[in-house]
Amino acid sequence: MNIYLTVMGSGAASPTGKRHCSAQVLNIRGFKLLIDCAEGTQDRIRQHHLKLQSISTIVISHLHGDHFFGLPGLLSTMHLCGRTEPVSIVAPKGAKQVIETTFELTGNHIEYPIEWTEMDFEEGEQRVLENRKCTVDAFRIDHSVPTYGFRVTADALTYAYCCDTAYDEAILPHIEGADLLCLECTFANELAELAEQRKHLTAGQAGLLAQKAGVKQLLLTHLSARYKEPDVLLQQAREQYTNCIVASDGMRMEITANGTKMNDL
Ligand SMILES: [Zn+2]
Ligand SMILES: [Zn+2]
Repeated sequence: MNIYLTVMGSGAASPTGKRHCSAQVLNIRGFKLLIDCAEGTQDRIRQHHLKLQSISTIVISHLHGDHFFGLPGLLSTMHLCGRTEPVSIVAPKGAKQVIETTFELTGNHIEYPIEWTEMDFEEGEQRVLENRKCTVDAFRIDHSVPTYGFRVTADALTYAYCCDTAYDEAILPHIEGADLLCLECTFANELAELAEQRKHLTAGQAGLLAQKAGVKQLLLTHLSARYKEPDVLLQQAREQYTNCIVASDGMRMEITANGTKMNDL
């Protein structure tokens, strides 16, 4: 059974006219999984003709704003639109406190249940979600705050997402052989020193990780706003790993047993 991916935001740090920040939706036989929720994600979901209330589970990689600041607004809108069904949220420790404090201090409230799974581990990986459609395993990745990568498995297909992370070969066992690997690619190779300081990847490093993990295809995301056109990043990643594309907002892909294809559903 195929996995459908819609990219809501493919930029790093702060939104630009061309790229919003991190958010993606996976559709696995009708099960909608939101991965990261940057500011404005609820607008992007509507813009890309996905139903807000169809999202039942949200996984958050880390609490930096460009991955998390859209969550209170999204949850609030779900309430305002009459939601009664629960929402499951998987996020690093602290997320629940941020959301509950935000609602408490701002006088907003939601009436549907939120089922929280907070991640607070450093070694190995943990299964954070399992249902009839898929499993999601989380593993720690190397960033400036506690951050987790995710591996989503549906039948024989695997989608892996690591954003944000420094270069760290410890992630290889978790992403090995993925049908599609989505990696952050914040900087070009020339800014390797900055990437190291801020615990991000260069394009070349992203390509190298994909090559070493033996994945089937690499999707680059989380591009710095300094790159108006992604050509340099794509070229540098392809020097290490050829089957590579750059994400753009609104991009829809279908992950199949015979490879990944662009999808205009
Ligand atoms: Zn980020
Ligand atoms: Zn970050």
